[in-house]
Amino acid sequence: MPTQMPMLSDSARGFRPLPLITRAPRREPQVPVLGRAPRVHLWHIGCQMNDADREELAAQIADIGCVPETALDDSDIAVLITCTVRANAEQKVFGKFRELIPWKRARPGRAIALTGCMAVEHGEALLGRLPELDYVFDVREPDGFLAKLQALHAPNLDGPVIVPASDRLSAYVSVMGGCNEMCTYCIVPFVRGRELSRPLPEVVEHVERLVAQGVREVTLLGQNVNSYHDQERRARLPELLTAVDAVPGLWRLRFLTSHPRNAVPELFAAMRDLPTVCEQFHLPVQAGDNDLLRRMRRLYTVDEYRAKIEAAVDAVGPRLALSTDIIVGFCGETESEFAGTESLMRELRFDTVHLAAYSVRPGTAAARREDDVPLSEKKARLNHLLAMQREIAAARNALYVGSTVELLVDGIAEDGKPYGRTRENKVAWLPKGAAEPGELHTAQVVEANAWQLQVQPVDKAA
Ligand code: SF4
Repeated sequence: MPTQMPMLSDSARGFRPLPLITRAPRREPQVPVLGRAPRVHLWHIGCQMNDADREELAAQIADIGCVPETALDDSDIAVLITCTVRANAEQKVFGKFRELIPWKRARPGRAIALTGCMAVEHGEALLGRLPELDYVFDVREPDGFLAKLQALHAPNLDGPVIVPASDRLSAYVSVMGGCNEMCTYCIVPFVRGRELSRPLPEVVEHVERLVAQGVREVTLLGQNVNSYHDQERRARLPELLTAVDAVPGLWRLRFLTSHPRNAVPELFAAMRDLPTVCEQFHLPVQAGDNDLLRRMRRLYTVDEYRAKIEAAVDAVGPRLALSTDIIVGFCGETESEFAGTESLMRELRFDTVHLAAYSVRPGTAAARREDDVPLSEKKARLNHLLAMQREIAAARNALYVGSTVELLVDGIAEDGKPYGRTRENKVAWLPKGAAEPGELHTAQVVEANAWQLQVQPVDKAA
């Protein structure tokens, strides 16, 4: 029988960063002298914050003299950056962990570390449940883990490792961590702690560094990014966008994820006025019924949400692509409450909707309520909205046919067709041979479906 997980670890309960947790010293890996820098395999799952954390951790691993981002078979250490937002994300982590067991046993000295939200949520209990796991640490505070690697691998380390510059065009930049909201279904405030914003100059410097490496599109990330606040400089998200927009060589700027409460006119004005800020706005609504929103503790009404969307479209223009998150089957969701969500989706006609069936997260306020919508009903409601959204997305994209879009070419598919994204964040495909990765094109939309656009180049912008 696997050891039962506690509801929340002490760190998660107290919003404290989790210190490095290791096994008793006699169980620590006996590290052989490798005669080369140790190699670290990184794996992650979950939201864009984990993408950004992975990049940051890879840089820190290179700084202490290990080689990050190596193939698993060539690696000495595997690090799992985990997610706990939904139960199935945790199951995927456990599945990945099972795959690592034969890898670890195949060579003495190999080690497995686990970080990310599951590390904070479950803490030490993970070591009890997973006998092959060596380390648990908080990705926000990796110093203990890095110091442990340095100590164990001292004979194998030879100063910072220079990682070849990547040829990526887009990058995520985490500008704040944590969340001060307390949506009743959400585990994030427990595992990511209170909001903490990076100083504005530090973010700008990070973006400058990325642009110098060839990045052209940056997405500023925060769980609640529009509550960004550099108190010392009195800078909120609009001021941050203004500062990042001024970085020479940056072509496109996006931000994720916003809370409706902090979606203010100043933000919409910045979206309208700053040339790099793309015509895309992700504003999670979660539900289209006031009682349901109250039970979720979202702290706005449907009318208030609608007014925010209208204000954003008024400021930026009808081309603004809208996306949202919706949870179906939350505790006590009635037929009529669900109908409210359906009717809001029909009315606002989002370009993209991230739909999820509610799953209980232990330790949250909603976990004390009865999860009383049967799974079959949750699935039926989910499938109904998915089908409806497919039609809406197809109709929204059909409006693009005949118009021109700006396309940043990301890559070439196996069949030779270049693809990329528009400023509205739509995937678009060009004819074979029409463009190279890294180019910016003006293109005419000739065909569209619910998921993508087919375009013909009109002009090369950069
Ligand atoms: S705002 Fe988002 S991250 Fe924060 S508690 Fe609510 S759902 Fe979770």
